[in-house]
Amino acid sequence: MPMFQDPSSFAPNASPAGLYIHIPFCLRKCPYCDFYSITDLSLQPSFLNALTSEMNMTREPDKVFDTLYIGGGTPSLLDIKIIDNIIKTAHQCFTILSNAEITLEINPGTVTLEQLKGYRQAGVNRINIGVQSFNSSNLDFLQRIHSSKEAQMALIWAQKAGYENIGLDLIYGIPGQTTSSWLKDLQSAVQFYPQHLSCYMLSFEPGTPIHKNLQNSVLNPLSEDRICELFEITLSFLTVNGYVQYETSNFAHEVSDESGTKSPQSNLSRHNMKYWNFSPYIGLGPSAHSFIEPQRFWNHSNVEKYIQKLSSGRLPRAGKEWLSREQLMIEAVYLGLRQTKGIEVDAFDKKFGISFKAMHAETITDLEEKGLVNSSRNRCALTPKGMLYLDSIAAMLI
Ligand code: SF4
Repeated sequence: MPMFQDPSSFAPNASPAGLYIHIPFCLRKCPYCDFYSITDLSLQPSFLNALTSEMNMTREPDKVFDTLYIGGGTPSLLDIKIIDNIIKTAHQCFTILSNAEITLEINPGTVTLEQLKGYRQAGVNRINIGVQSFNSSNLDFLQRIHSSKEAQMALIWAQKAGYENIGLDLIYGIPGQTTSSWLKDLQSAVQFYPQHLSCYMLSFEPGTPIHKNLQNSVLNPLSEDRICELFEITLSFLTVNGYVQYETSNFAHEVSDESGTKSPQSNLSRHNMKYWNFSPYIGLGPSAHSFIEPQRFWNHSNVEKYIQKLSSGRLPRAGKEWLSREQLMIEAVYLGLRQTKGIEVDAFDKKFGISFKAMHAETITDLEEKGLVNSSRNRCALTPKGMLYLDSIAAMLI
């Protein structure tokens, strides 16, 4: 078993970092996906050697990590022994706290109960399942490899394997999707009581096959009104079912503590929160990004290049940038507004030496009158309706 570090041995105000590992393999490429992954699985052994080298060369001895997220791609294509080795190597190279959240992304159709049990033995304590839909025609449109039955089995097995922190991803806004079919997806999801739900709106990213189909009028996207309706249904349905929205697409189930106070806190995705709160994170694997304020750097989005660089003893960095004060401010506005807690105005003003409220007084009043923003002394947050216009509102507050 890996040696774990006692969190009490670190300075109390050190901000723990997140570690992300990108597994760039999928059985088939989904036509809406713009994450980097390839379907040539023969490169797996050399990728794994390269990943071990990258971990050894990166190390970051002055940081402690309280999250490890193995994402992709389809990490559940890797067998138990490999996941076990990756986690062990991560523990050898980085200081990962004993209470770290260790997430593995899995895709239905690529896992068994035995595999899930083995991943848990290896140290995984959070599973995120790429269900996307329980509806066969939606799964066909998305060209997922799994059936609705396989999605349900993945959830049942994850619970049977003993995971107490399960996240489930769904997609809405699929052409042809009706209100009732989306409600059925939500109902199917909550029947399994996942601790976390991500409901992503289908986006047509440039360069993807569905974007091309959209340009060539091969498909009929849902109208903006219909998408807004689906978003509003999501909010009301999940709220009634005990889920709290904490970010545009993310919901955590509330739990009661010993005093009976309800809070979603323990079910938030600790790792994803790092991306939204300027916490440091290190990304390993092809295409992975890292952020150590004010610097961002990223790896080549190409497995061969990634392997080649590491086998010649170099880090596989494709680029880096130093974010200027203005760029950091823009990110702080955008990332703050994505979260239901909004922009923490005092902290924002202190960090950038300005008065956010004074700078945007008129715009904020106008947005409040339109029911798009809620503003209090120390917060500026989007209302549920405002969340639908995140990009345009963020642009007004920059
Ligand atoms: S399984 Fe996930 S990562 Fe792989 S192609 Fe589909 S959406 Fe992208």
